Amino acid sequence: MAFEGLSDRLQNTIKKITGKGKVSEQDVKEMTREVRLALLEADVNFKVVKDLIKRIKERAIGQEVLESLTPGQQVIKVVKEELAELMGGEQSKIAVANKPPTVIMMVGLQGAGKTTTTGKLANLLRKKHNRKPMLVAADVYRPAAINQLETLGNQLDLPVFSLGTEANPVDIANQAIEKAKEEHHDYVIIDTAGRLHIDENLMGELQEIKQSVNPDEVFLVVDSMTGQDAVNVAESFDEQLDVTGVVLTKLDGDTRGGAALSIRAVTGKPIKFAGMGEKLDQLEAFHPDRMASRILG
Ligand code: GDP
Repeated sequence: MAFEGLSDRLQNTIKKITGKGKVSEQDVKEMTREVRLALLEADVNFKVVKDLIKRIKERAIGQEVLESLTPGQQVIKVVKEELAELMGGEQSKIAVANKPPTVIMMVGLQGAGKTTTTGKLANLLRKKHNRKPMLVAADVYRPAAINQLETLGNQLDLPVFSLGTEANPVDIANQAIEKAKEEHHDYVIIDTAGRLHIDENLMGELQEIKQSVNPDEVFLVVDSMTGQDAVNVAESFDEQLDVTGVVLTKLDGDTRGGAALSIRAVTGKPIKFAGMGEKLDQLEAFHPDRMASRILG
């Protein structure tokens, strides 16, 4: 997993403090110094690390630890809670529209995993939540993208709405929603166009779709292997589109995934799902507390 290196280092660090019957201020200082280095080395944003360490220190040197019977474990609990808080605290749910269908717009750079995630999300909604989703091919610039979504739809036995490459994405999205209403689909997931880099045309088009269909969720798909770029991309998309959630893909990869941990702190938007592989069932709801436990062992 992407956090393996970070996880190993943090586990080594906290092991030293776990069994301590008494935790001195010096112990806490040493531990936080090592936690800080581990996070920086894993590519977590500098300012995010600074704020996190400050909070851990304040709490770990405070009453909650001093008065505890097992101060070593209490310190670790603090680190775990703060790490979970950094990634978003409680897990946030996916929206449900008062009147179906619930409309989800998927956005992100080309190659981030947007189309795959569109299929995975539909699969998850059907399997775990008993929903009846419809996929929408609104990337009209790349015929291959439409084919890719149609192939996914076939594999999953789910309908894909497409008007080919000649139609306007705003019309495609609106017609898809009408069709979903007629056919009683309760979720419409729109796969929009991506580009290799953020540009004004792309953002303009995405804003137009958003204004026209008024989606219940705008999910930004981000490749966790792209390091600080992932954070910058998330910031720009959020500025222009006010996204409602982030999907981190490729967390199964072995590059330092730490940057991804900064996304929530930098944008304030929750990470809702994590892609853990190429297969269509490898999308998980993102639980910050479980992820923190996984990282800290
Ligand atoms: P798009 O251009 O954003 O629509 O990206 P695609 O959906 O075509 O995905 C780009 C590549 O990333 C494909 O080869 C996917 O199989 C792969 N991919 C997507 N999500 C994941 C993931 O969570 N883990 C891994 N290992 N690969 C992924």
